[in-house]
Amino acid sequence: MKTGLRASFYTFGCRLNQAETALISTTFRAADFEITDINKHADICVINSCTVTEQADARCRRLVRQVLRRNADTFIAVVGCYSQTAAESLKKIPGIDLIIGSQDKMKVLQYIDEPAKRPEPVVVLNKMSRKPFTIEATGTELPTTRANLKIQDGCNFMCSFCVVPFARGRARSRRFEDIQREAQRLSAAGYKEIVITGVNIGTYNFENKFFIDVVKMLLQIPALERLRISSIEPATLTSEVFELMAENDKLCPHLHLPLQSGSDAVLLAMKRHYNSSEFRSFIEDGAAKVPQIMLATDLIVGFPTETEDDFTQSCVIMQDSPLVYAHIFNYSDRKGTATAHIKGRVETKIKKERSRILHDISEQKKDAFYRRFVGKTLRVLTEEMDGAATWLGYSDNYVKVRIENGQKLQRNELVQVEINDVCDGFAVGIVKNDANKAFAEATKTTCENTAEMSQ
Ligand code: SF4
Repeated sequence: MKTGLRASFYTFGCRLNQAETALISTTFRAADFEITDINKHADICVINSCTVTEQADARCRRLVRQVLRRNADTFIAVVGCYSQTAAESLKKIPGIDLIIGSQDKMKVLQYIDEPAKRPEPVVVLNKMSRKPFTIEATGTELPTTRANLKIQDGCNFMCSFCVVPFARGRARSRRFEDIQREAQRLSAAGYKEIVITGVNIGTYNFENKFFIDVVKMLLQIPALERLRISSIEPATLTSEVFELMAENDKLCPHLHLPLQSGSDAVLLAMKRHYNSSEFRSFIEDGAAKVPQIMLATDLIVGFPTETEDDFTQSCVIMQDSPLVYAHIFNYSDRKGTATAHIKGRVETKIKKERSRILHDISEQKKDAFYRRFVGKTLRVLTEEMDGAATWLGYSDNYVKVRIENGQKLQRNELVQVEINDVCDGFAVGIVKNDANKAFAEATKTTCENTAEMSQ
């Protein structure tokens, strides 16, 4: 292959996809490619796709067209979940040169001899392995200061609405020492925070090492300052995780536990592994043991059998439990899933209205949670600038923080921030050592003005 080529990458979907794109782009960097922005000209564009909803599919198709409008010569490779489940549909989109399913997507570079446009796309769709795996690369090509660390892939749960087991295959775990090796390299490369990712990470199982063993092993890495657990199935955890959070500052007090519905009838139809009372008592235990914990969830509205009463139960648990916020998804049929054959559909306008109601509850809960930290100090990792002296970042417990006196700060610094207000979806504060009452008052006034203006 020629030298001096440029490659761009785009990731749809989950954190696991982000982790994988970081690993794939590392292989391009090692082959002397210049990594460039998706909006700039590139010789090769790799799109790591997602198929969790119809919208995700549509966004992927739109991106292919956008890239080609900018430069018709760019070699387009679409890899990942959408390629795995809908290669035939993707083949019909003009301009795609390579389609790779989930098994081989990490090796995308091996399937490109020269980035020359092809009359027909090459399709690579191999059976997904069930064996434990290793990953040679280290995912350092990241747009964020948080490094996503893949420990697991696939899922055996077969929830009735979910296409992921078809897109990602059956559960398999990464070798324990291989996880340790990448985590050590990420820490040595300067990443202060690692986020554990996978499809169903709580089912990690490699030679009698389970998920909690991975957490404990990562907590031992001296250079690592923060360890975060990404989305995890509620039924795969025990309260030991809360005990670890309570005793170890490195383990972020934050869990994203997909509930999907507050109704037991819907949970049963979804084939979830818990009922609403079990979920509620688990998170109540967490909130009692770790008072500052951020508990977030996913909720689906408009599941085919969801009645008004079922939906009300989702609202009640969102409102009354320690849940802080929810990602809300409008149900959409995914080909091949059990739910796609269930009779009865909730009208789109009802789904939209249910989504709006839950979204409002979630926003109020989040705002109330953020306000609990006014007058308190949060440890924040600086991620991006938002003006000459303002930094944005997340606290240990995943509060989005705006730091107003950040002129001396750098990206990827962990700082103690005194929170003095909440506005525009941020907890706003100043770096603790520079705390200055007049400045805090001035910031507060600005926020109050913003709030008045937006009413
Ligand atoms: S646990 Fe259920 S929702 Fe999650 S990936 Fe597996 S089948 Fe899908």
